[in-house]
Amino acid sequence: MAQLPTIAHFIDGQLIESKSGDFSPVYDPALGVQIRQVGLANQAEVDLAVAAAKKAFDSWSKVSLTKRQNILFAYREILNAKRDELAALINEEHGKTIADAHGEIMRGIEVVEFATGIAHQLKGSYSESVSTDIDVYSLRQPLGVVAAISPFNFPAMVPMWFYPIAIAAGNTVVVKPSEKNPSVVVWLAEQFKLAGLPDGVLNVLHGNKFAVDALLEHADVKAISFVGSTPIAKYVYERGTANGKRVQALGGAKNHMLVLPDADLELVADSAINAGFGSAGERCMAISVVVAVEPVADALIGKITERISRLTIGDGRQGCDMGPLVSREHRDRVASYIDIATADGATVVVDGRNANVQGDANGFWLGPTLIDNVKTSSRVYTDEIFGPVLAIVRVKSYDEGLAIINAGAFGNGTAIFTNDGGAARRFQSQVEVGMIGINVPIPVPVSYYSFGGFKGSSFGDLKAHGPQGVLFFTREKTVTSRWLDPSHGGINLGFPQN
Ligand code: NAD
Repeated sequence: MAQLPTIAHFIDGQLIESKSGDFSPVYDPALGVQIRQVGLANQAEVDLAVAAAKKAFDSWSKVSLTKRQNILFAYREILNAKRDELAALINEEHGKTIADAHGEIMRGIEVVEFATGIAHQLKGSYSESVSTDIDVYSLRQPLGVVAAISPFNFPAMVPMWFYPIAIAAGNTVVVKPSEKNPSVVVWLAEQFKLAGLPDGVLNVLHGNKFAVDALLEHADVKAISFVGSTPIAKYVYERGTANGKRVQALGGAKNHMLVLPDADLELVADSAINAGFGSAGERCMAISVVVAVEPVADALIGKITERISRLTIGDGRQGCDMGPLVSREHRDRVASYIDIATADGATVVVDGRNANVQGDANGFWLGPTLIDNVKTSSRVYTDEIFGPVLAIVRVKSYDEGLAIINAGAFGNGTAIFTNDGGAARRFQSQVEVGMIGINVPIPVPVSYYSFGGFKGSSFGDLKAHGPQGVLFFTREKTVTSRWLDPSHGGINLGFPQN
């Protein structure tokens, strides 16, 4: 068999093949075959990437805001012009449909657009004459070398939550993408170079736990933005902060949709399908639990089941609604929850293992699955399944539904469906979740707001992108200044009082 292409690191503006001898396979999930391999970093390669970023920081942090913004504008144009190329790459290594890949790219480009306005975001404040002849002002400065560690499910968008803002603010970056689909970030970094970004400002380092640990230990890495599953997010947060780094670590999710009896059930059914099965349920903002306030459940399940029967599952290059899961192991793990549901006394209304698939027999397929009467004690309810499995929990009242949502271990996103504005307003106030949709199933904030959840979905104070992203990648200095008037004189050892 011919040697498979090897995906290289991108360090100091150059592709550099790993010499570790340690490789991870990269699959085309719709075909179920390995198409590439990625070389995983050893310590020397981690050091090389961080050193390149450190060297670049000296000059990049001094580049004027106007020049930084001009490079970001050029980057946006390149990304817009090459969307199709990027979407094809995302599809190839992730499996999501081309249309869904375009959606991810659009949300990533939005962050680049936000970063083109960094000059406004970095403005400090100024107070004249806080005391006689004394002025106070603040300025925000970059941190230095920062690292972004990303998951498989949004190979473009999640890294783009971080590096455009970090770089616009004057930092230099090492991105460690998921080893499942690592080509996408290399491609994104190459385009940034074409837009005029100096070498070393954005580096891509491939790796697994070893590389993550090495970044967590590296004295020259000042901050880490992590996105992934909850146990690893918690670990990264605890170890990074123990090492004195600034860390934001976004974890897993289990997002509920609360359906009140007065809701528009056609809208609810459409939304449950889109948010439950889009991207094969591999979204941190997917809806995985519908909390149906009776008497709506039977009617709603009928509408969802009918819509599932119309979905096409297959190769995302062929215009299907839903593609494969990312790996064989993940597909098998997700499918195992269907048996757990049966054992726990739930009702499997639609079993995705029986889906009619328009794709290669070796692809990592699992069709949309609908499970009714799920108990909150079942692992179908408590675990993040991260696949096309939608659970229905039946409740008698708004209060019972709210209590279930608030008792959950995660707090990423949630949605309420109702025509009662008062109920929606009460919900947004009472629910302990970071991102809330009102008749909107996937309430991902636009780039000029910030993204992040509560509880097991987020560790650290600051959220991703938007104003909080700027705060995360900068630190504030406050300056108290006195320029003596030529007529001034005298000594005063106390605090100035007037
Ligand atoms: P993952 O936790 O397996 O991997 C995330 C990153 O951590 C990868 O770069 C991986 O290489 C690295 N990693 C893996 N094992 C590690 C270890 N033991 N120590 C240190 N680093 C390690 O997550 P995934 O399967 O790639 O992505 C899916 C998860 O990400 C889901 O839980 C999903 O909810 C979550 N996610 C959350 C958000 C959010 O905004 N909260 C967004 C996207 C995805």
